[in-house]
Amino acid sequence: MKKKYGVYGGQYAPEILMPALKQLEADYSRLCGDEGFRDKLNSMLTDYAGRPTPLYFAENLSPSLGFDLFLKREDLLHSGAHKINNTLGQVLVAKQTGRKRVIAETGAGQHGVATAIAAAKLGLECEVYMGAKDVKRQSLNVFRMELMGAHVKSVESGSKTLKDAINEALRHWLSNAKDTFYCMGSVVGPHPYPAIVRDFQSVIGFEIKKQVKEKKGRLPDAIVACVGGGSNALGAFNEFLGEDVRLVGVEAAGEGVDTGKHCATLCTGSDGVLHGMYTKLLQDSFGQINPSHSISAGLDYPGVGPQLSHLSSINRIEAVSAGDSECMDAVKMLAESEGILPALESAHALAYVIKNKNEFKDKLVVVNLSGRGDKDVQTIADYFGVDL
Ligand SMILES: *Cc1c(COP(=O)(O)O)cnc(C)c1O
Repeated sequence: MKKKYGVYGGQYAPEILMPALKQLEADYSRLCGDEGFRDKLNSMLTDYAGRPTPLYFAENLSPSLGFDLFLKREDLLHSGAHKINNTLGQVLVAKQTGRKRVIAETGAGQHGVATAIAAAKLGLECEVYMGAKDVKRQSLNVFRMELMGAHVKSVESGSKTLKDAINEALRHWLSNAKDTFYCMGSVVGPHPYPAIVRDFQSVIGFEIKKQVKEKKGRLPDAIVACVGGGSNALGAFNEFLGEDVRLVGVEAAGEGVDTGKHCATLCTGSDGVLHGMYTKLLQDSFGQINPSHSISAGLDYPGVGPQLSHLSSINRIEAVSAGDSECMDAVKMLAESEGILPALESAHALAYVIKNKNEFKDKLVVVNLSGRGDKDVQTIADYFGVDL
């Protein structure tokens, strides 16, 4: 397996974690070639998660945009987002390598919920580390995880948010790697995690390729996806890296990329080390991580997957951004025209093609609708000043 993508990636992990990472790489490589593993995963993706997801032609919205817009409907998956593609894969690796417990960290709670679902389904114990501040802010997701039998560990150290939860989960993994599996939430972290998560999410692009050929008899001109850590984007892009297809990653410009309140890491970040990987980061001149902001919690991460940093540096993918207000306009537009309420994360991808519609004139464009917006209704109401 490739440990690096150009200069990015690698294993910037403490030495005592190295045996666990090596073991994971060996286990994963072996299971990739194991028919029983692949059959089990495919049957769960089909019968449990709801794959394949439709590739839907947005026939009401397309004429006003001036191009054919197709939506890859990851929002229709069980749990409401693409994250389950990855957690089912990783938790199955955990189970088939004899682990008793999976642990995960979560910010807004979406990866925690997706891990809790997979652990419940496969009968493993689940512990989710979450910053104490996030536990308070996301009480609904905390309860959702607990309903599925997961234990939520509130982390009181540091800023009591995602990065502290990651530190605590890693600390726990260090001393329990024998019977505990660390389930990573995006294409980030030390090798082999970015490759594993990319592989499990690549089903998105694999299906897009098949479906768009069936519907239009050719490949799309462009694929557009939002980028937080980068898993839904890389999952949609991976099958097309060697094709003549524009690949556009849309980051969150928050209140504007020049305000400091954003998380447009590929667009504005610089190279450094975080969470075991060398990648683009939002950091100050001393290498301290800058606070990031987006109205969509799932995009609010100060790093990005190393393979995306590489693909952006060689100009194979385009890194662009859309802000909070553009995101909200896109939510309204899709809801009113097509009756689909997208997740705020996914709405960033849509916002970009709406505001740059002339760039895509007469083209065939696929936007990856990574998740549904039910979880975001309160945020949307607050934004528009509606009292619920
Ligand atoms: C978590 C999440 C994202 C961001 O994560 P990536 O790894 O960048 O895909 C995007 N969309 C939805 C719906 C999410 O839940």
